[in-house]
Amino acid sequence: MANIEGLYVHVPYCRRKCIYCDFYAAGVRQARWDAFVAALLGEMGRRRVELSSQSPYTIYIGGGTPSLMPGGHFRRLSAGLMAAMGSVPVEFTIEANPEDLTEANLECWRECGVDRLSVGVQTLDNTSLTTLGRLHDAECAIDGVSMASRYFDNISVDLMFGLPGQSIQRLLGDVEAMAAMRPKHISAYALMYEERTALTRLRDEHRMAECDDVDVVEMFLAMRDTLAMAGYRRYETSNYAMPGYESVHNTGYWLGRRYLGLGPAAHSYDGLRTRRWNPADIAAYLRHFAGKGAGSAFYGEEYLDDDELREEYVMTRLRLADGFPVDEFRHRFGEARADMLLAGASRWERRGLLTVDDEMDGKRISLTPHGVMVSDKIIADLM
Ligand code: SF4
Repeated sequence: MANIEGLYVHVPYCRRKCIYCDFYAAGVRQARWDAFVAALLGEMGRRRVELSSQSPYTIYIGGGTPSLMPGGHFRRLSAGLMAAMGSVPVEFTIEANPEDLTEANLECWRECGVDRLSVGVQTLDNTSLTTLGRLHDAECAIDGVSMASRYFDNISVDLMFGLPGQSIQRLLGDVEAMAAMRPKHISAYALMYEERTALTRLRDEHRMAECDDVDVVEMFLAMRDTLAMAGYRRYETSNYAMPGYESVHNTGYWLGRRYLGLGPAAHSYDGLRTRRWNPADIAAYLRHFAGKGAGSAFYGEEYLDDDELREEYVMTRLRLADGFPVDEFRHRFGEARADMLLAGASRWERRGLLTVDDEMDGKRISLTPHGVMVSDKIIADLM
């Protein structure tokens, strides 16, 4: 793996677990920042060959809650990343929770080269924020984003829909209020009931009512229209941007580009067939990378066969609103597979869930907004 195009760093600490979250994270009181940053830099050193990049590349610091990292440690980490890469990134994002949007943090991130903030607002409804276990309220989010916009032009906010008890009207109120903050980018995800989360347990114990599936579809469609009116184009299943502000880093995932993940539970992909992942175990990570270490590989690894590669291609490319060119699919997977794909696609096209457009350079397949809501079925059928 060489010439990576995306560098992801996982910071696995949070103040408190949100009830819906199944990401790998531990309580921030357990954070040993010196050891953690030393471990990240240690992992970078071990994977130096993968890290050096002559290609334009992006950095994305995600979590967990990376905005909890003290300024001095963040400076050391970002300087170490850029020194290892040998150049500055074309996009440098940090995820931040609204309660961490202080002048001192914003100043520090900007000085370190960050040029994009992804803020976990989720909703501006205070009752829902409390229910979900978030630590901010609407006022904190609005004030934080307003302050952040004095430091950063490129701000993304996260929005959740399909919340327990949420009506379409309340969601649209949320969407309009978020659009009024004028972030350049909005990521909007339906609330998921993941296994082993407090949210799923509450639902299974009938202590929280799940939003109706039909309402979630209507919410998705109404939200898309409202955001379009406010100047945001949906460029991916769950992502909306003003022109020119699509996420470069995340687009790399959907286009199957090479990326390297550092930190516990981080994943990497060589852009060809190899996926790697670090175990979700902070203590083991610190033991392995903070000291001199034994030099052995820490990550698990899998090798994608032809079927998995094809499935992954269709699944990730169909997330993009522009879909993918059939000629590219044909070039990678052969004539016979391309013919099968087109035959399957025409069945879904007749139902208005997918389009096969004739363009100057050949056919292009993409999902319609209604198709997005049943994409799992469509992809399984196309495979
Ligand atoms: S702050 Fe983010 S990563 Fe942490 S528990 Fe909440 S949703 Fe999960």
